[in-house]
Amino acid sequence: MTDYSTIYQQLSQLAILTEQTGGMPAEEIRLIKNSSLLDIVLPGEALDFEQDNTAALLAHLKDVGRSNGAIGRIYEGHINTLFLIHLYGTAAQKEYWYDQVRRERKFFGVWNTDSTVGITFKVKPEQVIINGAKGFCSGADLVDFALIGGKTDQFSGTSDWQMVIVPMQQVEEFRIDRKSWEPLGMKASVSYTIDFSGIEVGHSTLLGQPGDYLKSPYFLGGAIRFAAVQLGMAESVYNKTLDFLRSLNRLEDPFQKMRIGKMAMALHSGQLWIKNAGQNFDDWKYTADLNERLVAYANMTRLTVEGICIEVLQLSTLCVGAKGLMAPGDLERWHRDLTFYLRQPAPDATLQNAANYLIHTDQPIESCLGLKPAIDEPSMMAASL
Ligand SMILES: Cc1cc2nc3c(=O)[nH]c(=O)nc-3n(C[C@H](O)[C@H](O)[C@H](O)COP(=O)(O)OP(=O)(O)OC[C@H]3O[C@@H](n4cnc5c(N)ncnc54)[C@H](O)[C@@H]3O)c2cc1C
Repeated sequence: MTDYSTIYQQLSQLAILTEQTGGMPAEEIRLIKNSSLLDIVLPGEALDFEQDNTAALLAHLKDVGRSNGAIGRIYEGHINTLFLIHLYGTAAQKEYWYDQVRRERKFFGVWNTDSTVGITFKVKPEQVIINGAKGFCSGADLVDFALIGGKTDQFSGTSDWQMVIVPMQQVEEFRIDRKSWEPLGMKASVSYTIDFSGIEVGHSTLLGQPGDYLKSPYFLGGAIRFAAVQLGMAESVYNKTLDFLRSLNRLEDPFQKMRIGKMAMALHSGQLWIKNAGQNFDDWKYTADLNERLVAYANMTRLTVEGICIEVLQLSTLCVGAKGLMAPGDLERWHRDLTFYLRQPAPDATLQNAANYLIHTDQPIESCLGLKPAIDEPSMMAASL
């Protein structure tokens, strides 16, 4: 795969600049658009969705997160949209949207979180009329196409949740509420609220059938992608913590060594979870009977990574003290960004769901975790006879 280390360095530097100026991460997005990061999952490319590349994709998302958390968030949305097009697009839609990425260098985003008034779609013979607003629209006025979910009046019999890919050139400036985004961290993800009411789009923007977006295992199973970005951010907190201690010549202190060791151990556990999550995703996604297992493993991965990131943040805080957590020091921003980005939907229900699967399955825990038995039991019995 292409070496992206120079781009990662640039993204890392730009994060500092964007935070200081309070501006948009436009230069960061331009860098990605001008590189093969933009089309990396398209057919024939390094992380082609047609191949079983999930572990490599997660490692890639982790790298992006380690360079720049806000861009990691926006970029994950681009990858997620292309995955949904890969899963549910017609041949003509794929041709059109892939071409928009390859030739026109267009960036995509997924905005599923409803604002106070959720999205509805009225499907007319000539067009589709959108009403309502979305919150948490990462990359709000930087992406070129936004996949939004909402209730359609064309109920499929099982679900009315429809995906529509809105060309952002149809979304006028006044619809973007910039005051809606005053977060603790991840300010540069520019996740504004956008009001889509009254916008009309063509039928060709409808992606898949109602209910496709929420289908198992891809909806909940997709949590492993944002977990990978979060873990990359925790790796950056670790690196910057060491840099700070080095600058004060404090690395040889036994208590600091203890905390550094604990951080490294926690990060490595996260790396193993993410790697296994990618492998299990590819091993289990084709078998309907294993979909629940895939989702349970993704849920556990997400929560384990959350716990690891919290542990790393806590240990880093103890390592660097107040002096290390002051702006314009970079570590201060990383702490706020990661703390905030760890807040993802319904963590308690996520654990309940994973535990429910484990309680009700008749499979041994090793199988649920994707572990192969160390010793093949029948052959061991044969050997002992
Ligand atoms: C930086 C950032 C960028 C984002 N970008 C996007 C984006 O581009 N697109 C997008 O679609 N979304 C985006 N999101 C939104 C994200 O997917 C979540 O919807 C959002 O983070 C929800 O967080 P929350 O902590 O408020 O969740 P909640 O689910 O409200 O959880 C908060 C707490 O309430 C508990 N809880 C949840 N439900 C209940 C209940 N019914 N009863 C009692 N307790 C409950 C939870 O267990 C938890 O303890 C983004 C979020 C962040 C932080």
